[in-house]
Amino acid sequence: MTLPTTNGSELSQKADQYMAYETEEVITWCGGCGNFAIQNALRRALVLEGFAPDEVLMCFDIGCSGNGSDKIEGYTIHGLHGRVLPLAAGAVIANPKMKVIASAGDGATLNEGVNHLIHAIRSDYPILFLHHDNQNFALTTGQASCTTPQGCKANSAPDGAPEESINPLSLVLSQDPSFVARTISSDTDHMTEIFRKALHHKGFAFIEILQTCPTYNKHMTDPWLLEQAKEVRELPDYDAQDIWAARKIVEIAEPIHTGILYHNRDRKNFLEVMKHRDEVQTTPVEEVRPYDLSDVLEAL
Ligand code: SF4
Ligand code: MG
Repeated sequence: MTLPTTNGSELSQKADQYMAYETEEVITWCGGCGNFAIQNALRRALVLEGFAPDEVLMCFDIGCSGNGSDKIEGYTIHGLHGRVLPLAAGAVIANPKMKVIASAGDGATLNEGVNHLIHAIRSDYPILFLHHDNQNFALTTGQASCTTPQGCKANSAPDGAPEESINPLSLVLSQDPSFVARTISSDTDHMTEIFRKALHHKGFAFIEILQTCPTYNKHMTDPWLLEQAKEVRELPDYDAQDIWAARKIVEIAEPIHTGILYHNRDRKNFLEVMKHRDEVQTTPVEEVRPYDLSDVLEAL
């Protein structure tokens, strides 16, 4: 892959802001796991776009990606399996002033929580969603998920996954999304650039990250991903505003097209179509009236 554009000197001048996202929690990911680079790229993007840890809410699903919840400083919530999107949607509706980021793996997103994905796209909630697609249920020791390629061996499928896999981007693009991109965990610069742009999208930004899992996914390696990835900016005439161009390109298995595949800037997000909130200057979280329940609790 080419076209890395992350400005290293710009980042080095912001080392303090970068370190503000540091925690002292023990790392539990395996050596070589793509989650390291994804979280690094997210931190870089947040710093370069001027987000401090107290301006961001990061919602994590269950899975190896979810174990990143205590490895980054800031407001983080580690929710139920497959339910990170309704959790993030509730948070951003309550407090639209926060930048809300949700992370989930392929098992959580497309096996457990695919219903929530459909509605997040339909409602265009203002959420940056990082889909960590390592093509297996890694936290529970490498069972096949619905993105495991058909025929690939997994701990739950010793003879190879029997069913056709789901193409996540084909599914997402069929639902009239407002922002769709693909990147790879093997290229931190590229991830950073995609995240930086997606942070400013006002609706639901779906980022497909093909994530290496050297422990359980032996075919999707760093060298293979780097060889396969091809940025759509390198294609003559690719138009990221043309959803049919995006729908066509995600059906191509090799090379793997990366970059911003589709962007609809005109679509109104969920908050913009809530007519009953027109002219309201406060956020719902500011309208909550605190109640003192101590008398009630003492009486129990
Ligand atoms: Fe990463 Fe895979 Fe290890 Fe999970 S099992 S931490 S995804 S390498
Ligand atoms: Mg997975």
